[in-house]
Amino acid sequence: MDLRNIAIIAHVDHGKTTMVDKLLQQSGTFRENQQVQERAMDSNDIERERGITILAKCTSVVWQDVRINIVDTPGHADFGGEVERILSMVDSCVLLVDAAEGPMPQTKFVLGKALKQGLKPIVVINKVDKPEQRADEVLNEIFDLFAALEATEEQLDFPYAFASAKNGWAVKEMGDEPKDLSPLFELILSHVQPPAGDKDGPFRMLATTLEANNFLGRILTGRITSGTLRPNTTIKALSRDGNVIETARITKILGFRGLERVPVDEAEAGDIVAIAGLTTATVADSIVDPSVEEPLPAQPIDPSTIAMT
Ligand code: GDP
Repeated sequence: MDLRNIAIIAHVDHGKTTMVDKLLQQSGTFRENQQVQERAMDSNDIERERGITILAKCTSVVWQDVRINIVDTPGHADFGGEVERILSMVDSCVLLVDAAEGPMPQTKFVLGKALKQGLKPIVVINKVDKPEQRADEVLNEIFDLFAALEATEEQLDFPYAFASAKNGWAVKEMGDEPKDLSPLFELILSHVQPPAGDKDGPFRMLATTLEANNFLGRILTGRITSGTLRPNTTIKALSRDGNVIETARITKILGFRGLERVPVDEAEAGDIVAIAGLTTATVADSIVDPSVEEPLPAQPIDPSTIAMT
């Protein structure tokens, strides 16, 4: 199946959770009974308190036979290195901005990092249903913010849409007849490159987040940069310096489907997956085929973000 990997970035309350819920709903991967128990991207307060790395919350929606992995990005400045690691898994991002409030500190913080990594964002001005919306002005403010953050010409030429996530629609221009979120889905499919990666090459994946799971043990999530992975394969973990940390057998591969993670028999280059079976490897390590000697280039990390209890 064709694939796209995007991040969603926004200041708190600008509507990320609502937007992802609606994208899920309209893509048909949403299950009614999940709505109450678990919203797509609620914050992980318990994990934060315990000092475990925040999981990149990945939700996957399907639109016209293309699976879109949507990774949540923490807006906080206090998890150094994490935003960069998460952004390194994706090929573009959707920047949501409240049509009344305009760009806010977290908008600037995460957008700055996205632009620095060379991502070309899609801008969505959300909450245009609000009586106090000032969508056109906010669009100009966002352009100015891009310019202030030294966006390249290509990045400045960002595609945009206006949306009411709450009401489940997006339009290309204010005044267009609102229907559903298809204009946003279409922007994502046309603007975001399918992930590159050699499916037949040796397996390589950069571990981006780490979590402890009661049943599966240590789980590492990341994007497969090359190769194809199947359960029971032997792999090794390389530190950023290229030292072998461990050799292990993959016990489980979890793919993202809707709000759930489900075991899969195979995962290919380009996809974002969670793997179990390793016992010592950690964030920023390269998980590779035993034939691979060189680690993948990793973003700098702040050790306080990878402490595990
Ligand atoms: P998050 O913090 O970015 O995940 O924001 P939420 O999705 O939780 O939304 C924050 C608040 O804004 C909630 O009360 C939503 O109902 C509301 N909201 C989200 N999207 C819209 C919208 O398009 N229009 C209006 N009027 N409110 C919205």
